[in-house]
Amino acid sequence: VKFDFIQFFNDIIDRHEMTKGETIQFRRKLMKRRVYVHADQDKMTQVIDNIITNAIKFSPEGGTITFRTMLRAKRLVIGIKDEGVGIPKSNLKKIFERFYRVDKARARNIGGTGLGLSIAKEVVSAHGGDIWAESEFGRGTTIYFTIPFDTIVEVND
Ligand code: ATP
Ligand code: MG
Repeated sequence: VKFDFIQFFNDIIDRHEMTKGETIQFRRKLMKRRVYVHADQDKMTQVIDNIITNAIKFSPEGGTITFRTMLRAKRLVIGIKDEGVGIPKSNLKKIFERFYRVDKARARNIGGTGLGLSIAKEVVSAHGGDIWAESEFGRGTTIYFTIPFDTIVEVND
């Protein structure tokens, strides 16, 4: 189906905002324009839910999670940034492999199976996009993914 991805993303963030607890802040830097994409909403919801859940899991008390949308070369770019523990450079690609988890001891306490990002990668690839991570170890992580867009509609306020 075709839908406005910005509105869709906003609604998912709303849902997490209601359950995130008081020690984590959300900041939205989303575009005003409507950006229509062809995508499977259930699968995209699963992708975004996992990235947000990860960001919350690895955030320190008082941490801010920043949500961004940008346009670049015919693609919509989505960025979800946290101020958590971060990921060492050597592991940045591996987190998208099945069952891979950085630091087994830490991961055991935090919980999860290590499947979320591998599923995210499959879904994003199937939609013609890319997914990657940028991180400064100890200072936070940003997960980016792209999705090709169909049309953009300007919004006047
Ligand atoms: P699941 O998603 O299946 O419940 P999981 O969250 O451990 O389990 P992934 O979402 O695939 O699995 O993430 C893989 C690993 O990548 C995590 O276990 C963690 O080590 C690392 N990781 C993912 N996101 C972050 C993040 N925002 N900050 C720090 N580490 C992260
Ligand atoms: Mg996960």
